[in-house]
Amino acid sequence: MKIHIMTLFPGMFDNFFKESLIGKAVDKKILDIDIVNIRDYSKKSSMSVDDYVYGGGSGMLMQVEPIVDCYRDIVKGRKVSTYYLSPRGKLFNQDMAKEMAKDEETVYICGHYEGIDERALTLTGASEISIGDYVLTGGELPCMIVVDTVARFIKGVLSNDDSTKDESFADGLLEYPQYTRPSEYEGLKVPEILLSGDHAKVEAWRKEKALEITKKNRPDLYEKYINKN
Ligand code: SAM
Repeated sequence: MKIHIMTLFPGMFDNFFKESLIGKAVDKKILDIDIVNIRDYSKKSSMSVDDYVYGGGSGMLMQVEPIVDCYRDIVKGRKVSTYYLSPRGKLFNQDMAKEMAKDEETVYICGHYEGIDERALTLTGASEISIGDYVLTGGELPCMIVVDTVARFIKGVLSNDDSTKDESFADGLLEYPQYTRPSEYEGLKVPEILLSGDHAKVEAWRKEKALEITKKNRPDLYEKYINKN
């Protein structure tokens, strides 16, 4: 997948695309990353890309022209799935990530200051996506979160592609508790059933725990699951 990231802070992505599974996916050329500095498209001698907000209000806004020029230089007339990271966007989740992983090419626009001029959204056709009901200083961290989540659904990124099939959210529930060696630590024992070798019983135990944890931590997901099943 080709991923273009439009940002004012390209350096923030340096380690993210070098480390861990994402770094490996870049090495294996499963992910092809293109980080573009929106500031390079400023026509001002100061290279600034922000200005005051019409109608008043605190803070500065990213201007439409550098964003649109930068975008058009990237897509060169092609139709490419484009996302603007934004607190007012559609709430990002695992199902969206799975769908987004089907795209061969994606553009992400990272905002800063008070955000971007509305006309940049119209002219790029970007969909707004939010990572949660809180406000960060910029779209770079949300972008990393979205790219990481989407990448996990691209074949070859995870060492075992089945990993995404039995983890939290896959069937609408949160994950059950898991343990590895040693079987006892500071008096805390791994539940006997997990050592029994009885797969049916292990599955039943995991389901029961997943239901318990989902009910406690995410009653909204629990209700949805119960109504559907
Ligand atoms: N004035 C904006 C508002 O009230 O919705 C907030 C702007 S925020 C300080 C600056 C930038 O951070 C945004 O343009 C966006 O790109 C990014 N951002 C902040 N919170 C976010 C979130 N929850 N999800 C996605 N992006 C976010």
